[in-house]
Amino acid sequence: MNRENSKKIFEEAVKYIPGGVNSPVRAFKAVDTGPVFITRGYGSKIEDEDGNEYIDYIGSWGPAILGHNDERIVDGIENVIERGFSFGLPTKIEVEMAKKMVESYPGIDMVRMVNSGTEATMSAIRVARGFTGKNKVIKFEGCYHGHNDSLLVKSGSGTITYGVPTSLGVPEAIVENTLVCRYNDLDDVKRVFDEDDDIAAIILEPVAGNMGLIPADKEFLFGLRKLTEEKGALLIFDEVISGYRIAYGGAAEVYGIKPDMACFGKIIGGGMPVGAYAGRREIMEIISPEGGVYQAGTLSGNPVAMHLGLKSLNVLEKNSEIYSNMIEKAEMLEAGFKENIEKTGIRASIVRYRNMLTLFFGEGPFKNYDDVQRCDTKAYAKYFVEMLDRGIMLPPAQFECMFVSDALTREDIDKTIEANLEALKSLI
Ligand SMILES: *Cc1c(COP(=O)(O)O)cnc(C)c1O
Repeated sequence: MNRENSKKIFEEAVKYIPGGVNSPVRAFKAVDTGPVFITRGYGSKIEDEDGNEYIDYIGSWGPAILGHNDERIVDGIENVIERGFSFGLPTKIEVEMAKKMVESYPGIDMVRMVNSGTEATMSAIRVARGFTGKNKVIKFEGCYHGHNDSLLVKSGSGTITYGVPTSLGVPEAIVENTLVCRYNDLDDVKRVFDEDDDIAAIILEPVAGNMGLIPADKEFLFGLRKLTEEKGALLIFDEVISGYRIAYGGAAEVYGIKPDMACFGKIIGGGMPVGAYAGRREIMEIISPEGGVYQAGTLSGNPVAMHLGLKSLNVLEKNSEIYSNMIEKAEMLEAGFKENIEKTGIRASIVRYRNMLTLFFGEGPFKNYDDVQRCDTKAYAKYFVEMLDRGIMLPPAQFECMFVSDALTREDIDKTIEANLEALKSLI
């Protein structure tokens, strides 16, 4: 497959943009190849600068849940744009959006819109600290919550719970208040609570999608719910990926657990830059101008993003069969990949949770960050390029997820399973 134009644009890009991209994963470094520059998307497909077409399993990392450029969402956007993009003053559609989200998600009463998932988790943690009067936050190794200073940490060596920065430029003093535990390990969290009474919140992806796909065990989540209640800490679900994806009410609905706060992004902007954080009324009322926790945003809740987001949520709400259809499609991919793995004898496992999947080049079970670290990332890199050359756009790193969209067709699925077999064979 010829990707000359992408190559040329990238040569130009690296002159003006750090690494040639505006978000690191797009550089395709983890799969030892260069980035593909996209010109357009339609339904389940995207097209690159060389006119190559790909079946898209990135879906803008989730927002394109209905497929690209779905007319149900795009419809009427001209009218919105005609009126102006942003006023820095309130608009009615922000109220409709907030109401829609409150009605959709278990346990939340109020929502504040921001412009990214990063902002959502940053603000939620500030609120949790302001509300509880405590300082520390527990996060889990392998969960990603955006690029906030305080959350860019991994666990220190041995059993030490204190986080160490995973990025230059993050002062030790900032991550001192971030404690890092093992995902799906309730005892680890209990131990930390026994040692420390200054914990404001636990934040986690209830279905982890940033270390490859690892859903939380039910007992683990229920355990966290009970523990935080006992200890007076807040439980924050980061549903930036899982919200409106795995179900309309996210992981809170699927697991039947009400967190104290939840963070959103990706799908709720319908492709525009959006985030939101939400919680119970008594918690959210601490936010400025009502209360003492300051948080603001020039472009927050801007009408174009609200229009696309609200339309997306409306379609998902009114057509609940979309979820069962997506799950069925994901099941077909899972079954096909499984058969191919058996046929080829490749050391790989397919993990699926509802409409998300990861093909791990290693043997499960995958319960936490340490488990996935044993995967063969070189094999994934080769596999990725083989799939790309067959017109399948997978996430360009082992520790990411495939997102199934409503637009994915039976033909796309068959083609993907066929490509998967050939790609796996080429690895033998
Ligand atoms: C993508 C993501 C974020 C960050 O969202 P941005 O809009 O990229 O800032 C936060 N949490 C999770 C779980 C994510 O997947």
